[in-house]
Amino acid sequence: MRISDILRVKGDQVVTVPPGTPVEQLLEVLAQHRIGAVVVSRDGTAVEGIVSERDIVRALAARGAGVLGEPVSAIQTTQVRTVEPDAQLEDVERLMTERRFRHVPVVVGGALGGVVSIGDVVKFRIDELETERSTLADYITGERT
Ligand code: AMP
Repeated sequence: MRISDILRVKGDQVVTVPPGTPVEQLLEVLAQHRIGAVVVSRDGTAVEGIVSERDIVRALAARGAGVLGEPVSAIQTTQVRTVEPDAQLEDVERLMTERRFRHVPVVVGGALGGVVSIGDVVKFRIDELETERSTLADYITGERT
């Protein structure tokens, strides 16, 4: 199974913010889209960083409420791990587990082409298991040969 199989279902839209966006505004973007992370990009194509709710929590704990007025660039992660659409789902699961992050941007020819979250991966796995379970049940009960 490849990452492109997930993108085919969920689409290639990615929420991005420019690096100068104040953290307070980032909170609104995350809440409005009901997501946990955004890609930081000036042009919506080049991945300059990623910023998740965890970065906000850590910065608030370290520096207090003044963080809300800081730009996203002050709290983002700039060493972003990305994958290409033909990456194997198992490899991306391993990457997320080992590196302890829940979002991986998908890059196509150097341009942002989607994002996969741990929620997408879990949903995909559950659907896959359900299909497998019902095929086996049909086979056992003789509804399918
Ligand atoms: P998350 O689990 O995705 O909320 O992110 C946990 C931490 O990892 C935060 O500091 C993020 O900025 C960072 N992070 C999230 N996704 C990635 C990624 N694909 N590459 C590098 N760092 C990431």
